[in-house]
Parts: sequence; structure tokens; C-alpha cells
Amino acid sequence: MPDELFVYILVVIIAGILSSFLCLYAQFRLRDAPGAKPYILVTFFSAIFAFSYAFELASTSLKQMKFWLNVEYLAMPFIPVFILLMCLEYVGQKLKHWIYYILFIIPIITIFMHGTNEIHHLYYTTIELNGEGPFPILKLEHGPWFYVHSIFLFLCLMISVIALLMNLKNAKFQFRMQIILMVAGIIMPIIANYFYINGLNPYGIDLGPVSMGISFIFHGAALLSYQMFNVTPIARDTVFENMKDGIIVLNQNGQIVDYNNSMLIIIPILNSQIIGQSIVDIVDGSGKLAEILWLEDECDYKLCIDGKYTYYNIRFSTVRNKNNYDIGKIITFVDVTERVYLQEELENLASFDGLTQVYNRNFFMQETEKLVRSLNGRSVSIIMFDIDYFKNVNDTFGHEAGDTVLARIAGVVKDSLRTYDIMGRYGGEEFIICMPDTSLIEAYEFAQSIRMNILQTVVPYMDKEIRVTSSFGISSTQIKIEDNSLTLQKLMREADHALYGAKSKGRNYVEIYEQSM
Ligand code: GH3
Ligand code: MG
Ligand code: MG
Repeated sequence: MPDELFVYILVVIIAGILSSFLCLYAQFRLRDAPGAKPYILVTFFSAIFAFSYAFELASTSLKQMKFWLNVEYLAMPFIPVFILLMCLEYVGQKLKHWIYYILFIIPIITIFMHGTNEIHHLYYTTIELNGEGPFPILKLEHGPWFYVHSIFLFLCLMISVIALLMNLKNAKFQFRMQIILMVAGIIMPIIANYFYINGLNPYGIDLGPVSMGISFIFHGAALLSYQMFNVTPIARDTVFENMKDGIIVLNQNGQIVDYNNSMLIIIPILNSQIIGQSIVDIVDGSGKLAEILWLEDECDYKLCIDGKYTYYNIRFSTVRNKNNYDIGKIITFVDVTERVYLQEELENLASFDGLTQVYNRNFFMQETEKLVRSLNGRSVSIIMFDIDYFKNVNDTFGHEAGDTVLARIAGVVKDSLRTYDIMGRYGGEEFIICMPDTSLIEAYEFAQSIRMNILQTVVPYMDKEIRVTSSFGISSTQIKIEDNSLTLQKLMREADHALYGAKSKGRNYVEIYEQSM
């Protein structure tokens, strides 16, 4: 083999190796860059083109050369289409589905025309072996479809360049450099093709495969730099680390793979050494949390941090790969402290009387009904009391003074209750107390003691001192199994009745309800 031919073949093989390397590199390292898929395909086809061209150059007979030429033509016609798709994807241009199909029509016809040229001679008018040079080479006279193919190739490359340049104006500096790299990569095969078509190449050798190998370096560099400057993964990391919610990522064995900064507040023992350990083992000391994590029970979790309660809603979500296999778990600790406090506040508003801080009438009724239902066979007493001549307080000292007195009296009574007694504001200056497991006598004694407490209470207001008295009505019963809310209503009616009696007996008095009343 002549030295010159050997050098050409070597150059073409190197170009083929280069394309193969770029194809593999893109497969593993550039997959996320826009245009990576067409790039992988174009480098793959270009490698086939280069290697089969090397075989064509090394062939000695016309038959061998024709065979390798046909192999080249299985790959080469698709190359301009993939270049076009790569560029459009790179600048974020989405094509309609049907356009994709149309783009592949001409290459497929080209392959067909090339393969059946013997019959119609529309691709090459003549195919001969040129033995004039230092080594035999194919001499091809081009037919009409060759020019169709060439124009199509040229158009694909031109549209690619135009699409890239249209984005140049508005692009940021970094992206501009990437676009220029892409354009430079396309210009190479255009020049090589120009030389080839016009017969300017040495001995008519096609430098297309070589020019493509080089141009793909430019494209690869553009894709790589896009990937390097791609904001998405960096943004994702930043969001992950700065989230207020704590996040732990586990693999399918429940071992810790990753966690964010907020997690360190919730589980302070997390550190880089525990990566790979089981989450349940790590939190074993804090029983409740270990149980939640073990059962994967979505719930609220209360944590005392620096003497302040923080509430987290713990959520579990499965991580699946593209093939829908479970590959791990994400545990999210969503900070719901504000929500919990707001909820508590709302519940408070709904159940407490704002002025006196005892239950409001509705909530008292709800709680007492529940209590009475649980008291089968046991005694319960109801005390109703009302401040005497309260209207006078308002009239003499003003409404605000009246409020102060009301709050203070309620406070005095509340302080003398047992934990299981329930007290509510029944209306205006009238209160009600439900005392479980309390006989009539015990309730009477209790009422007497609070009557005395109220009597002795002095409420300072501005520079004055306000004193009031109260009247009490009591009723009591033994709860039977069939008792229901009617029992409670009956008891309340009776206590109210007794209270009326206390008022009529001169006030500052405790009256017991009796059947005869
Ligand atoms: P009696 O000994 O018969 O209970 O006399 P009284 O004046 O306490 O009874 P009455 O029912 O005539 O008056 C109750 C008064 O309590 C009328 C109302 O203005 C006052 N009152 C009711 N709720 C409030 C309140 O929240 N704040 C203040 N300051 N006054 C209230
Ligand atoms: Mg009153
Ligand atoms: Mg009243």
C-alpha cells in the first residue's frame, strides 16, 4: 500500500475512533445536556461512516469498494438530520412530531436510491475505478438524486446555523460562546463538502468523515460546557440545603444516603459518618421518633428545641427510578409549628370565654355531656351561681369595672375547683359548675365555701374597691345507665330553679333543689 494512502486511511480511522469516543463519552457524561441524544446518534453514525470509508479506501477491487460505499450510505444520509435536531434542541426549539418523520424521508429515499442505483442510475451515472493516481480510487459521476441529497444536507446544516445564530443576540455571554462553538462545528463539514463536490480534494478523497470527527469535538465541548453551567443541579442542591423542612434520603435498605441542614436541628447526631447506617438505629434513643420511622406513620411530631416546642409533620414518599422500581425513600419533616399554634388558638377561641377564661356555654355543654355519660352509677352535682345586683356594679363603677369584677370572680371560683370539675360561663354574670363524684352535701359545702370566698374578695378598680356577693342553686343525682343528655338538662333546670330560690331568700345564699320546690 502506498505511504500516502496509508496516511489517509490512518487519518480516517482516527476520525472514526474520535467519533466513537465522543459517542461513548456523551452516553455517560452528557446525557442531561439539551441535544445530547441526537449528538450520541450523530457521533455513532459518523463513526460507522468513517470506518466503512476507511475500508473503502483500503479496498483494491471495484466490487469491494461498492460494498463499503453501500455500508457508508446506511449511516451517512442521517447525519445532517441529527445535526439539525441537535442544534434545535440545543437552543430549546421544539418540533412538532410529524416534522421529525418528514425529516427522515429524504435520507431514507437516498439510501434506497443509492442501494438500487444499478437499476436506474439516478444517484451515480457512472461508477468506475480510477487507476490513474498512485492508488486505485472510486470515480463517481453524480446523478440527479445525489444533488437532491446534497441540497438537503446543505439545507439541514444551514437551518442549524440559522437557528443557532438567531439565539445568539439575546444569549448571555456564556451561552454565546457555546453557540459559537456549535456553529463552528457545523461550518467544518460544509467546507469539506464544498471541496468534495467541486473535486478539489486530493485524489478525490472524501474528507467528510475527518471533518465530522473534528466538528463533533466542538459540539461536545458546547454540550459539556452547557452541562457544567447548567443551573438546575446547583439550584436543586441550594434549595435542598436551605429548606426549612428537614429531609432525609434513604436507600431501599433504610440506610441514610443524604440529609439536609435542617435535619441537624431535628436529629443532631447526624454527621457524615452515619451515611450508610440505618435510620432506625440512629434515632433508637428517642423512642417515639424511632417508632414513627419504623412504622412509616405519617403524623405530627413534637420536639423541644431550646426550650421552645416545634411541631413537625413527618411524611414518607417513595423514590422510584425510570423503570418504576422502588429505589429508596424520602422522609420529610415539615415544620408545622405555626399551623399547630394557630389550631390551638382557634380551638381556644371556640371553647373558652374570652373575658373570664372559663369554658363558654357550648363547650361546657359538650364536655359535661361527655362526662355525665361516663359516670354510670356515680353521683354528679350541678351548681349554678349568679352575681347579686351586678347591674348596680355596672351602674356605679361603669361597664369596664363590671368586666374586671366578672373576670376576678370567675378566677376565684376556678382556683378552688378540682381538676375534674368543669366550669362554664352560662350567660352574663351567671356561671355553672359540674362536679362529678360529688354528693349533694359535698356540693353544698363547696358552694358555701366559694360563697364565702366571693364575699371576702375585694376587687380593686382605679382607686376604688368593689365587693360583690353571689347566690347559688344546687342539684344532684345518681347517674343511671340509661341516662342521657336529658338528665343533664333536668339537673340544670333544677339548679336554676334553686338559684331563683336563693335570690328570693335575700341573695348571698346557697339553695338546694328539692322536689317540693
Ligand atoms: P340579681 O341579683 O337579680 O342577679 O341582679 P342583677 O343586677 O345581677 O341581675 P340582672 O340580670 O338584672 O343584671 C345582670 C347584669 O349583668 C345586666 C348586664 O348589663 C350585666 N352584664 C351581663 N354580662 C356582662 C358583662 O360581660 N360585662 C359587664 N360589665 N356586665 C355584664
Ligand atoms: Mg345577677
Ligand atoms: Mg343574671
